[in-house]
Amino acid sequence: MPHSFQTDDLRLGPIHDKVLAGERLNSDDGLVLYATGDILAVGWLANLVRERLHGDKAYFNVNRHINPTNVCVAACRLCAFGRKKDAAGAYTMALEEAFETAASGYSEAVTEFHIVGGLHPDLPFQYFLDLISGLKQRFPQVHLKAFTMVEVAYLAKRAKLFADRIRHMICDHKIDGSEWLSTAKLAHQIGLKSNATMLYGHIENDEDRLDHLLKLRALQDETNGFQTFIPLAFHPEHTALAHLPKTTGMLDIKQIAVSRLLLDNFPHIKAYWQMMTPKIAQIALRFGADDVDGTVVEEKIYHDAGATTPQGMQRKDLVRLIREAGREPIERDTLYRPVARTETSFTVSV
Ligand code: SF4
Repeated sequence: MPHSFQTDDLRLGPIHDKVLAGERLNSDDGLVLYATGDILAVGWLANLVRERLHGDKAYFNVNRHINPTNVCVAACRLCAFGRKKDAAGAYTMALEEAFETAASGYSEAVTEFHIVGGLHPDLPFQYFLDLISGLKQRFPQVHLKAFTMVEVAYLAKRAKLFADRIRHMICDHKIDGSEWLSTAKLAHQIGLKSNATMLYGHIENDEDRLDHLLKLRALQDETNGFQTFIPLAFHPEHTALAHLPKTTGMLDIKQIAVSRLLLDNFPHIKAYWQMMTPKIAQIALRFGADDVDGTVVEEKIYHDAGATTPQGMQRKDLVRLIREAGREPIERDTLYRPVARTETSFTVSV
């Protein structure tokens, strides 16, 4: 039997009753959850919802990141990865280089390539078509989880793929929140699944975070196309906001728990170990998270912003991290189907 709910914070009583009854929480409830110091009570509630959905299962995958270019026309103040074309450290992989990168890393067969890059002003659209088809030809079993909504919108605009009605919504460089939601909606309408993130711990406040969560929840009510929500702790080093402090463990844990409680229509909440550190990600598995992400192999984006975590993790270390949190490790593919593997190959249960 789980221990009973206890709190000295009377404001949490009505939220406890709603969660037990399976009722949806609102923005005021969210403000209370952010404001309370009783992280254990918030965690108790988030864990209840997490175990209702997934029991003891905790998901991970064997994946590899590929960042084909860090050249970017945008200059987001939160980013230490993007570079102008002629800046020191700017790179763009030739296609062969991208294919070699994809093949390098640990010996276990990966089930997913996670492909993200900058908004390159000159790379032809054909480069991306060749990248995707070349990877698929060489690694037919690997799922290509490619591009953020921002990249999709930028590429579509440059390749003039969208009708004017859609294109006029897309600004020159980076899209705003409503354009992001429109792009995600379009992706879901054509049958793609996607994930959603939120970078927190910079200049935003509790209201801003709730606004972000509730907008995602509303779109998910419409499309049911999101699989996972991933809160991303802001890493300030080498960004234009380098004077800001890093997030604390308490905020990282609380953000996981609040996300699980507010996003009642998202199947999965991920504690991305690269962002939170493996130790905090492990604790998060008891505070609402059911996924820790994967082996990654080579992480550039947060390491450019001063992350001190390893660039990748072996499968066996992820399994240990999950087991020691008292959860059952389940290797999944990109679509959360269970993966069974031998030393050198894998099969996905469909
Ligand atoms: S966050 Fe993305 S769009 Fe913004 S500068 Fe960095 S790479 Fe470019």
